[in-house]
Amino acid sequence: MPQPPSCDEFDPNSLTVEQAYERIVNDVRVVDSGETVAIRAALNRVIAHDVAAPADVPAHSNSAMDGYAVRAHDLPSTGKTRLQVAGASFAGHPFDGQVGDGQCVRIMTGAVMPDGADTVIMQENTTRDGDFVEIGAGHTPGDNVRHPGEDLRAGDTVVERGRLVNAADIGLLASLGIAEVDVLRRPTVAYFSTGDELKGIGSPLQKGDIYDSNRYTLHAMLQRLPVETIDMGVVRDDKEDVEAAFKEAAENADLVITSGGVSVGEADYIKTTLEKLGQVGFWKIAMKPGRPLSFGHLGNTAFLGLPGNPVSVMATFLLFVRPALLKIAGTQPQPLPRFSAMLDTDLKKRPGRTDFQRGIYRMADDGKVHVSTTGLQGSHVLSSMSRANCLIELPREQGNVAAGERVDFIPLDALL
Ligand code: AMP
Ligand code: MG
Repeated sequence: MPQPPSCDEFDPNSLTVEQAYERIVNDVRVVDSGETVAIRAALNRVIAHDVAAPADVPAHSNSAMDGYAVRAHDLPSTGKTRLQVAGASFAGHPFDGQVGDGQCVRIMTGAVMPDGADTVIMQENTTRDGDFVEIGAGHTPGDNVRHPGEDLRAGDTVVERGRLVNAADIGLLASLGIAEVDVLRRPTVAYFSTGDELKGIGSPLQKGDIYDSNRYTLHAMLQRLPVETIDMGVVRDDKEDVEAAFKEAAENADLVITSGGVSVGEADYIKTTLEKLGQVGFWKIAMKPGRPLSFGHLGNTAFLGLPGNPVSVMATFLLFVRPALLKIAGTQPQPLPRFSAMLDTDLKKRPGRTDFQRGIYRMADDGKVHVSTTGLQGSHVLSSMSRANCLIELPREQGNVAAGERVDFIPLDALL
C-alpha cells in the first residue's frame, strides 16, 4: 500500500533526478575539433559533418527474386504463355542484350534487370522446358523489381552530424564506396577515487581498508562511450593532495569525475578545495542510491563528483555522467529506455526519492516480461549490481510495491 509522504523525505533543498539531469546536460559544452578516420575506425565515434550519398542506391534496377525477367505485355490474362529464354543475368554478370517480344531472361536476386524487361516472375511460378519457360496468368506488371534510388537517392543525407556510429552505419558507408569520414575529437575524461581507506589491488588490507573498486567500474563504463580516459588513481583525504589532483585533472581533461568524499563530514573540506578552484555546486538529489552529487566547472573543464558507494557510482554514472559525456562528445543523449513489467516480489520503498532498485527481468512462461528484486539493496552491495540486469525505477511519491503490480525498469544490457 502506498504510504503518505513524510515531510522530511520531500526535502525542499534536494533536486529531482530530472532537474539534475537538465542542469548538467544543458550546462556542458560540445567539443569542437575533429579528425578524419577510415570508416572501420569510426565505430563508436561521433560524425562531424553530414555525409551524403554520392549516387543512387541501388544504382540500377535489379531483381528482388530468383526467376525470369519478362516484358509485362507478354504475360497472359488467362491460360499460359511460352517465352523463349534469351540468356541470363547473374549478380556481377548482367545480360548485355535486349529482351524482345516473346522472350525472357533467367535472373537471380540482385542481378541487373535486362533492357526491355520490366517484371520478374518467381521461379516457383514457372515451368522450364528446354530453351522455353511456361508462365501462367495472374501476375502484376512491375512485380519483384527493385528500382534505382529506392533505398537512397544521390545527395540524400545518410549519416548525420552528431550520429554515434554503429555497425550498420559502417556497412552503409561502405556500400556507398565511402572510405573515410570526419568525426569529432573524443573528449578526455580524468577520474580518481578519494579516501584514506582505499587500497589498490595487490596491497594487503589493514583493518578498515577496502579495495578501490570504483575506478575499475568507471573505467569499464567509460569504455562504452566515445571518450579517452585518464586514470589518476587514488587521492588521499588530504587538502594539498586533492587540490593538486584537481589542478592536474582540469588541465588535461574535458570532464573530471571523482568518487567519494561528498558525504557529510568530508563534504565541506572537498567543497572548499573545489570552490577555490572553480564553480562547483553540491546537490542533494532525491534519488536512491546516489544522493549527494556535485557538479560544476574547473575553468573550461566540467566536474562531476559522485558519491563513494559503489552502487551509487554506477547509478549516478548512468543517469548523469553518461548523458553529459554523450553531449560533450557531440551526440544528443537519449533518455534511458524504460519498459514495464509484472513485479514478482514485494519491494520496500519510502516516498520522497526516486528509487533505482536492482532487478532481474526475464521472459516468463506466460510469454510476458516479469521482474524481481536481486535482494539486499544497500548502496554498498555491489554484488546486487552484478546480479541485476535492470534497474527497477520507482517514482518519487511511490511507497511499498506489492508483487503483482506493474513497475518500470531500465535494462542494463547495453549499458554496462
Ligand atoms: P564517502 O563518500 O567518501 O564517504 O564514501 C562513501 C562510502 O563509499 C564509504 O563506505 C567508502 O568507503 C566507500 N567508497 C568510497 N570510495 C570508494 C571506492 N573507490 N571503491 C569502493 N568503495 C568506496
Ligand atoms: Mg571517503
